[in-house]
Amino acid sequence: MRRPIIAGNWKMNKTVEDALDVAIGLKRKFYTFGEADIVICPPFTALSKVGDEISDSSIMLGAQDVYWEEEGAFTGEVSPKMLKDVRARYVIIGHSERRVLFGETDEAVNKKVKVVLRYGMIPIMCIGERLEERDNGTTYEVLEKQLTRGLKDIPKEDVGRIIIAYEPVWAIGTGRTATPREAQEAHKFIRDFIEKHFEKEASVKLRIQYGGSVKPDNIAKLMAEEDIDGALVGGASLDVNTFVQIVENSIL
Ligand code: PEP
Repeated sequence: MRRPIIAGNWKMNKTVEDALDVAIGLKRKFYTFGEADIVICPPFTALSKVGDEISDSSIMLGAQDVYWEEEGAFTGEVSPKMLKDVRARYVIIGHSERRVLFGETDEAVNKKVKVVLRYGMIPIMCIGERLEERDNGTTYEVLEKQLTRGLKDIPKEDVGRIIIAYEPVWAIGTGRTATPREAQEAHKFIRDFIEKHFEKEASVKLRIQYGGSVKPDNIAKLMAEEDIDGALVGGASLDVNTFVQIVENSIL
């Protein structure tokens, strides 16, 4: 059985002090927690302090993006070496906000996935269709293209370590969630893709998160679906109690 993984993406929210407040609140609840992997992804400015705060607990640290070079003249970027230095274990890559607002391409996603694996961290590679793509029936073409390009030249034995987050763009921050059935269909498509293009073992191991307006009252039904192994949570991860409830309801 795949171990559930719930990750909170705090996006561009929280000062270091606010981030520490949330981390301390979560640590109180999940100092030790064996039933799921819990990951929090604060903004870059808070990574180091939050990382120190949670280092003795079961909660793990994630970053929201990375650049693919190790160091050098890349103003404004953060390298995998720097993320490793602050003990990040996970890195979100290709979030739809980065694709839509900052023009991130599948080729860039692919370079980032490779470098994160090379540094021994776990990429959370986000894919998902836009509303017009769902409406015009091209959802699976879009997912196939993002998977093909994002996972290009990744060795078979590494694919099972990656986390794929299926995040339909129309469900992010909109309050509109994919139905458990819609999400399950997309997750099954992703797992079948991995089996077809890599190997069965990797497809069985691969953890696929759903993301898009996940809340305490919809997580249990999503998690009941066979191919949904966790959630990538945006807005609802900013508040301690709400995120705690999501984690607790995810393992019901
Ligand atoms: C996200 O940003 O990955 C996300 C799923 O956001 P929200 O939960 O707010 O829809």
